[in-house]
Amino acid sequence: NAISFISEQTSADLAQEQSSLVQQLTMEAELHHALINHDFFLEYQPLYDFSRGGQKMIAIEALIRWRRKNGDLVPPDVFIPIAEQSRLIVQIGRWVLGQACRDLAKLQQAGWGDLQMHINMAAPEFINAKLPTELLGLMEAYNLSPKFLCLEMTEGMVMKQPDKLIPVMSSLRQLGFKISLDDFGMGHSSLSRLKKLPISYLKIDRSFIYGLPQDKGDKAIVRTILDLGRHMNVSVIAEGVENDAQFAFLRQFGCSLIQGFVLSRPKSLAELMAMSLDRRYQSKVVLG
Ligand code: C2E
Ligand code: MG
Ligand code: MG
Ligand code: MG
Repeated sequence: NAISFISEQTSADLAQEQSSLVQQLTMEAELHHALINHDFFLEYQPLYDFSRGGQKMIAIEALIRWRRKNGDLVPPDVFIPIAEQSRLIVQIGRWVLGQACRDLAKLQQAGWGDLQMHINMAAPEFINAKLPTELLGLMEAYNLSPKFLCLEMTEGMVMKQPDKLIPVMSSLRQLGFKISLDDFGMGHSSLSRLKKLPISYLKIDRSFIYGLPQDKGDKAIVRTILDLGRHMNVSVIAEGVENDAQFAFLRQFGCSLIQGFVLSRPKSLAELMAMSLDRRYQSKVVLG
């Protein structure tokens, strides 16, 4: 009957809830070990600028990976949300920052003098009052200038706690760091708030790039974001560009900062170091 059906449903839900809680706690413990055992590593995806005729790799974005002891590779979309539910994200983020700055210093010393590093950050990392001091400490330790470091925050995270995050963004901007609004278009910005954000870049979410150049909705959204960037005087980056047709559409509508598999997959530091400086100015895409 109806009542026993309902109570069965509830106990099934409860069991499910408990098992996902157990899974979460298990993964938290594993992440903690991964930090201690150095099981994380970074890959770097190039970002290219097409605004000066040719093509120049102006930045790389650090992307964290977790290699389990059994060899399995866990993608960040799986473990970052779990780390965000505990304080672990702050420790993981600190490791990412240190590693990425160290690697950027190596690349700059190897001749990539003006290369920027983009780093994805989670909200709890910004709600740490010591963040500016920690970042300045890294700049000093690795002899880097803040203008080469760009912190990526998702639009969704900024709009969820604007009152807490915007003041931190402003003080970091004042210190010379750059800020990029990642996954833009997914986070329900109010336009009046967007206008006041202290950001250097808007990064169009890759879900809108996917349907280019056929999907009418994606086309309209991408063109609108490009216009918005021009009016706000903020550079727009397209991420997740996978093929020549998407690339051609973006170039046609004036997008000059492009990242995606069509240009380069994420690379290891060793691969970047092995890349000659000449190759920084060209890649497999032939400009029409
Ligand atoms: P994101 O910052 O938006 O990064 C872009 C994601 O798209 C990366 O996935 C990248 O490998 C992937 N990608 C790049 N080009 C293409 C393309 O052409 N096609 C497709 N299909 N995908 C492309 P990844 O490395 O799995 O990272 C996923 C997300 O995890 C990132 O999204 C970011 O939000 C988060 N994340 C990564 N590293 C960190 C980190 O160090 N700290 C924090 N807090 N989050 C991180
Ligand atoms: Mg990003
Ligand atoms: Mg993104
Ligand atoms: Mg993303």
